[in-house]
Amino acid sequence: MMDRLLTLGIVNSAQCSFNCGDIESVEHLFFACPYTQYIWIKVLNMCNINRQFFSWLEEIQWMVEHARGKNLPQILRKLAFGATVYHVWMERNRRCFKNCFFPQESIIHKIQGYVTAKLSGISLQNSNEHHHSLCINW
Ligand SMILES: [Zn+2]
Repeated sequence: MMDRLLTLGIVNSAQCSFNCGDIESVEHLFFACPYTQYIWIKVLNMCNINRQFFSWLEEIQWMVEHARGKNLPQILRKLAFGATVYHVWMERNRRCFKNCFFPQESIIHKIQGYVTAKLSGISLQNSNEHHHSLCINW
């Protein structure tokens, strides 16, 4: 009986929680999965970044190179990336353990809420027009 439960448990946990039919892994969750990739591309667009999704390790590498420093675009990228990883992971756990499902737009809304709350606490030096166009996305 235990073996059977264990096997079932393993089978369940190996399936992606977003029901895409793929096997769940960190690389899949961030952001190869169609569900999470949609969210990430939207968030990137809100950062005025229009590009395809990279692999998880390449995304991290990209962030290391492009989210350094104290200017708004870099701060925004860092916040947006952290918030997206956090909220995707929270949603994954809700689905796993609470059988509770939020649509992608709700997750994006949560990410927005987190980022704007953080941004409003930061006093920005040398604001300019480009920064303004970035801020209105959020
Ligand atoms: Zn998936």
